[in-house]
Amino acid sequence: MHHFDPSKEIQDYSVFGEYGGVNPSITDSSTYTFLSPEKMKELFDHEIEGCFLYSRHWNPTNKHLAEALALLEDSEAAIVASSGMAAISASILQICSAGDEIISGRTIYGGTYALLKNFLPKLGIRTKFVDIKNTDEVRKHITDKTKIIYCEAVSNPLLEVANIPALSQVAKEYNLKLMVDNTFSPISITPVHNGADIVIHSITKFINGTSDCVAGCVCSTQEFISQLTDINTGASMLLGPVLDSFRAASILKNMHTLHIRIKKHSYNAMYIAENMEKAGCKVFYPGLPSHNGYELMNKIMNNGFGYGGMLAVDAGTVEKADSLMKKMQDEKVGYLAVSLGYFKTLFSSPGHSTSSEIPKEEQKAMGLSEGLVRISIGLDNNIEETFGRMKKCLTDVGLCK
Ligand code: PLP
Repeated sequence: MHHFDPSKEIQDYSVFGEYGGVNPSITDSSTYTFLSPEKMKELFDHEIEGCFLYSRHWNPTNKHLAEALALLEDSEAAIVASSGMAAISASILQICSAGDEIISGRTIYGGTYALLKNFLPKLGIRTKFVDIKNTDEVRKHITDKTKIIYCEAVSNPLLEVANIPALSQVAKEYNLKLMVDNTFSPISITPVHNGADIVIHSITKFINGTSDCVAGCVCSTQEFISQLTDINTGASMLLGPVLDSFRAASILKNMHTLHIRIKKHSYNAMYIAENMEKAGCKVFYPGLPSHNGYELMNKIMNNGFGYGGMLAVDAGTVEKADSLMKKMQDEKVGYLAVSLGYFKTLFSSPGHSTSSEIPKEEQKAMGLSEGLVRISIGLDNNIEETFGRMKKCLTDVGLCK
């Protein structure tokens, strides 16, 4: 258990608006003026603190959000992107060239899986998917072409916990970059403290928390962020996944309540997970001693924010999963929708949605049952009452008595 408090870091971060506004002013320009041609040339040569060139490179609002994200992840620096996928693809393409290899956990978000499995081979970048919990298996697949070990801190959708300290050791031994997607566990886990080199987020989820935009970020060393934004060679600069400054401003404001939301998501998810398990359901939640990542999670998590807001329940069959989700929507427990980290509970069946890119036989190998229902638990004030309605749905489909 770590005693780092990311919320304090973000809370202490203050940037005033140009008239002393308590929020920084939003910059509404794609381009920036220079007092002299010499200064413009100088900025093209290297970054100058406080000087801006063009919004695809940097703008003040995106910089404020990036600074707050670096504080959240306790990384030297960060960059924001137009989506989580943009953050992932830009980071990978910055590191890998044709012929290079990636070793990735196989229980990852389906979009990332599809990028690694279907898209990157077109560029000559190949991925070996492994059981990331098994460090020996990771080691076995390393070749002189390997550049990245990729995993999710808490994986989608089975909530497996990656042994970031052990993976970091392997990465250091072979001079690889350990890239960790921390989308499911912001504030609860600080991957950099456990040895990650690059931390990415789909901000779309918990960090923003209002399901009104798509955004992402990369948190890493100053050196890597500077590589990404390099005018001549940076994947972020040249592929152009820029986040709009108005959206960056609204995300920064939402971030100030992240710690409160995560505590409540965690409290509610723990309550639901414990009670579902007591009622006889097969539940996956890293806060339950029955979960295979429970002990590891206790070792690597920050103290005080809980085990996060995501859980999964195995309904056994597709039919039961569909019927459970329909009933939960009818009972106003939440919405049948992909995505996560909203105030409202959201649920979906990964095999038919977010993990559908993963072939059926691989889903089976990774223990992803067809009847799995992934649930992002909301911020319900009275979770005991909500569970009453959930229990009725579970009973109706025969999952508990
Ligand atoms: N990583 C994880 C764990 C996700 O769940 C998602 C989206 O569902 C992504 C990455 C991709 O993020 P985005 O949809 O913001 O591109």
